[in-house]
Amino acid sequence: MKILVLNAGSSSCKYKLYDMADQSVLCSGLVERIGDPQTGNLTHKIAPDTDKEEKIAREKVFPDHAVAIREVIDLITDPQKGVIKDIKEIAVIGHRVLHGGFYQTEPALVDSKTKDTIRKAFPLGPLHNPANLTGIEVAEKLFPGVPNVAVFDTAFGMKMPKEAYTYALPQDLCEELQIRRYGFHGTSHTYLTHRGAAFVGKKLEDFNCITLHLGNGSSLGCVKNGRCFDTSMGLTPLEGLIMGTRCGSIDPAIVPYLIQQKGMSPEEVDTLMNKKSGLLGLCGKTDLRDIHKMAKEGDESAKLAESMLIRSIKKMLGAFFFLLEGKVDALIFSAGIGENDDLIRARVVEGLEGLGICLDSKKNATRSGEERAISTDDSKIKILIIPTNEELQIALTAQEVLAKSKK
Ligand code: AMP
Repeated sequence: MKILVLNAGSSSCKYKLYDMADQSVLCSGLVERIGDPQTGNLTHKIAPDTDKEEKIAREKVFPDHAVAIREVIDLITDPQKGVIKDIKEIAVIGHRVLHGGFYQTEPALVDSKTKDTIRKAFPLGPLHNPANLTGIEVAEKLFPGVPNVAVFDTAFGMKMPKEAYTYALPQDLCEELQIRRYGFHGTSHTYLTHRGAAFVGKKLEDFNCITLHLGNGSSLGCVKNGRCFDTSMGLTPLEGLIMGTRCGSIDPAIVPYLIQQKGMSPEEVDTLMNKKSGLLGLCGKTDLRDIHKMAKEGDESAKLAESMLIRSIKKMLGAFFFLLEGKVDALIFSAGIGENDDLIRARVVEGLEGLGICLDSKKNATRSGEERAISTDDSKIKILIIPTNEELQIALTAQEVLAKSKK
């Protein structure tokens, strides 16, 4: 079975075509600068990440997503370099959709109701949802007869108990404005949970873990019996940990204080907290490789940024550990920082040996792209690194939704 995964952004579109027989990627690519009247770029890779990888680059104007995706279809079905003969070979298209709003708890086969759900959540995902819907509508036109599945990034968090997702604000207002903790990186946390359970040899419904998706945007997932029990991000991806450019959780009273003292508009405060804060606001850099270098050279702001980041992760880890009453099978590190930064990993779990969390420093320092344990063999709680794979999770979910729809 071939499954296409599409992630349509406002001016970009990422895609991956899977052969689900062995979960191999037949081709993948990225179209950028869609809608730019001057120029656009398409990078297409055949058999990516294998020794047969072949790259095709195209520079041309893509006035809209339809033109961009038509170009992708040409490449995928090209008589010489194509990986399939006909688009009819594609069994289903899985779309990444940021927000499902208040009521959408599951991924869904696309019909007019699903599209309505995505539309209704525009105010909650104003940058992503309109583009995601465009991707779906274009796919419906250009792949006639191929079913589409919307995989919501919020679906993981929709499984949280009410006391985890409710904010202590007047409840009629929360109801009216669909204010609740949604959580993001849901597709990644889902993937990590499934892979983690398989890694330790437990059934999903018996598996408890804390997933640490640490990248430019970061969130922690608290998983009880294979389902989300809590998560660090909230109504938006701003809440929780300190991130590359986001401040994470701060005293909410800072917002009116900024407005009163500096005469800032809501949009300016939003930009300040989302784009100019976090590691960037602390030391002028967002990439931890730069920050570690600066800290090593004695830069105090970089040292503070490192310590604050670690403290923010550790505090959330502690909260989730207590919520799970210590019954944790694994801590799972993932994403750019989680997969690559042994220093951050080591400092996050430092001193936790008494809780049964024991890091093997040698394993932690060994670089690899594989799923692996970096805890000592006798560590009660396993510490794992699992490279996240949101596209594969979308493909797997689309496959599952399709199978259910045929029953
Ligand atoms: P992501 O958003 O998952 O792509 O993660 C991006 C972030 O991962 C970057 O901003 C870096 O802070 C971090 N990162 C990526 N590669 C490395 C590395 N080799 N060592 C340390 N941090 C890294």
